[in-house]
Amino acid sequence: MAIRTIVWGENIHENENQTVRELYPDGLHGCIAEALNQDANIDATTATLQQAEHGLTQQRLAQTDVLLWWGHAAHGDVSDEVTERVCEAVWSGMGIIFLHSAHFSKPFKRLMGSSCNLTWREAGERERLWLTSPNHAIARGLPNHFELENEEMYGEPFGVPEPLETVFVSWFQGGEVFRSGLTYKRGAGNVFYFRPGHETYPTYHDENIRTVLRNAVNWAHNPARRIEDPVGAPNVPVNEAPEPIEERGPRLHRDGEAGFR
Ligand code: ZN
Repeated sequence: MAIRTIVWGENIHENENQTVRELYPDGLHGCIAEALNQDANIDATTATLQQAEHGLTQQRLAQTDVLLWWGHAAHGDVSDEVTERVCEAVWSGMGIIFLHSAHFSKPFKRLMGSSCNLTWREAGERERLWLTSPNHAIARGLPNHFELENEEMYGEPFGVPEPLETVFVSWFQGGEVFRSGLTYKRGAGNVFYFRPGHETYPTYHDENIRTVLRNAVNWAHNPARRIEDPVGAPNVPVNEAPEPIEERGPRLHRDGEAGFR
């Protein structure tokens, strides 16, 4: 079965900004989904902020293998309920890929548990991406470095935890560098952050970028059965302990009690 994939888009600048609309008439999410669907192993659909429950119902997430997230201007409009739902899906085994300005999205910050801040500049400068892990599945089929003629600069320090692997680093024309492709595991879910993708440039039309996105979906897919209740914290009664024990001492909780959160 193909990898069931959702490209989530904030879908704001595509409608409000003439440059972005001309570059991405079907939205950034539409362009990214089209790139992914060139891989017969991927079945990509889209969801947007404006849809009911941002297009990410419990049922839809349960049937999703990999979610891609692009957001910028309206991180605060994403509901806490959907944020928690997305994080729980990741902990249960759904893969997730955060793109560009999604470094400040609610689900990314929640999964990283850190500031996720960085330095930045919007000057259309050249970005050169270097493969730092050339044998990584996400780097398959790529040259050892490639360039984007116009991009926004993101610079170090990037306020994220140390990743499992750094797949790319970027150098910018103005001199800064940035860890631009980072992998994490959160619960049973594979997480990838990929830096390029400022909406006023044609980044998602670039063939190397589209290769990275397809590779990343294949990498992030965890075919194992999802964990049913990834946030469950069950109380194990005395008489169900793996070895027989006798209860001793005072206790605070009653049998079967949910416990504090
Ligand atoms: Zn940007």
